[in-house]
Amino acid sequence: MNLTNLTINQAHQGLIKKQFSANELARGYLDKIKKKDKEICAFLTVTEELALSQAKKIDDLIAKGKEISVLAGIPLAIKDNILVDGVKSTAGSKILQDYIAPYDATVIKKLKQEKVLILGKTNLDEFAMGSSCENSAFKLTKNPCDLSCVPGGSSGGSAAAVASDECICALGSDTGGSIRQPACFCGVVGLKPTYGVVSRYGLIAFASSLDQIGPITKTIEDCQIVFDAIKGKDLLDSTSVENPKIQNTEYKIQNLKIGVPKEYFIKGMDTEVEKVIKSAIKKYEKLGAKIIEISLPHTEYALACYYMISTSEASANLARYDGIRYGYSEAKSEKRKAKNLLDVYLQTREQGFGSEVKRRIMLGTYALSAGYYDAYYKRSQKVRTLIQKDFENAFKRVDVIFCPVSPTPAFKIAEKIADPLKMYLSDIFTISVNLAGLPALSLPVGKVGNLPIGLQIIGKPFDEDKILQTGLIFENLCQK
Ligand code: GLN
Repeated sequence: MNLTNLTINQAHQGLIKKQFSANELARGYLDKIKKKDKEICAFLTVTEELALSQAKKIDDLIAKGKEISVLAGIPLAIKDNILVDGVKSTAGSKILQDYIAPYDATVIKKLKQEKVLILGKTNLDEFAMGSSCENSAFKLTKNPCDLSCVPGGSSGGSAAAVASDECICALGSDTGGSIRQPACFCGVVGLKPTYGVVSRYGLIAFASSLDQIGPITKTIEDCQIVFDAIKGKDLLDSTSVENPKIQNTEYKIQNLKIGVPKEYFIKGMDTEVEKVIKSAIKKYEKLGAKIIEISLPHTEYALACYYMISTSEASANLARYDGIRYGYSEAKSEKRKAKNLLDVYLQTREQGFGSEVKRRIMLGTYALSAGYYDAYYKRSQKVRTLIQKDFENAFKRVDVIFCPVSPTPAFKIAEKIADPLKMYLSDIFTISVNLAGLPALSLPVGKVGNLPIGLQIIGKPFDEDKILQTGLIFENLCQK
């Protein structure tokens, strides 16, 4: 039996029916990582001991005839900006290369309560800044569907690990598309929850008003299981909230109104991608859903607005890496050149941060500086409100919004790295969702050549269950 292509439920059934043990399941994945990850480079750290010790506990419970939760013994990978107690957490940065997390993020605490198996930490763009994983200080992750292409970013390691069967599911984080775009590029499912629904405690901050943790999985069902396990209000994150909505059991596709924003089908977009997305929309229409053209008129300002707000917040969040409190310090290096405290700060940051992170710190610091604050930061906040209002207006007429995740399929390694603006443009369809704080799903709905294409399903705040139910309809259709 191949243990490395199971869904959560299949693995759970296998465990409780004693077709295999948690130890065998863990070893199956650890072996797969050993073999496959030489090529894919999805993992930064493999936590073999932790996974095997967790597996032993589950096998003991099963032997005693105890009931186990559906996630018990399920092998999971964690993006390396989410803290796991006692495990290295680098956020893909040299400045945190030896940083050992002193506590568990709330999502990890919750998953450990469910007794998942943590296989390791996955690669990402440094501090989650990027769309290709090429900004990682450590590794170049490859797209399992085509090794010459990027896996997307910044949660590229998590998406590649799921797509190459090196884990059953993974956690990512999404500030401007970092769960959805890599899920799309690698042909797996990714959910960015409503802002506040999942605790950010223990997530290494990039842009605090945009960051959300969410699942990357092979199926919608798995996505729902992981999401349900990690969501919930947390006293350690003052922005977290309880999801006030209860699952809608009355869900009927014939009652569903799907909005299709005209601004998301633009000139210059890859025509093959457009075809795949439109044919997916047609399938929903054939099943009885109503398709309604909508407008999100401020879409064209979203990218500029996002890069002002996210870099401003990043410049403040990353100020803590000063060579004193965390990770890499010039003061401790053998070839120490720093002569005084200021020098320690400057040299640590110069050597510890990569060029994309420095670019964003400079941009954000500039946007927040006296004299420019009103013109850039404050104005961006106003534009953000307009973008939110666009969605509020649209959602008066429709239940969900359908659009592409990315204007192109996965691009070639090195294709965009020299041109930051070109790289930023690849986020064009995902960033508005973060600015508006909405939930959105990336669902594989077709291919161009061997490269997967993702449909983005955006929901009203707290409508995760509805967008997952909507995605499930397509998934079921494909299995018929
Ligand atoms: N690609 C976007 C950026 O570079 C989004 C990153 C993210 O969601 N973490 O900022």
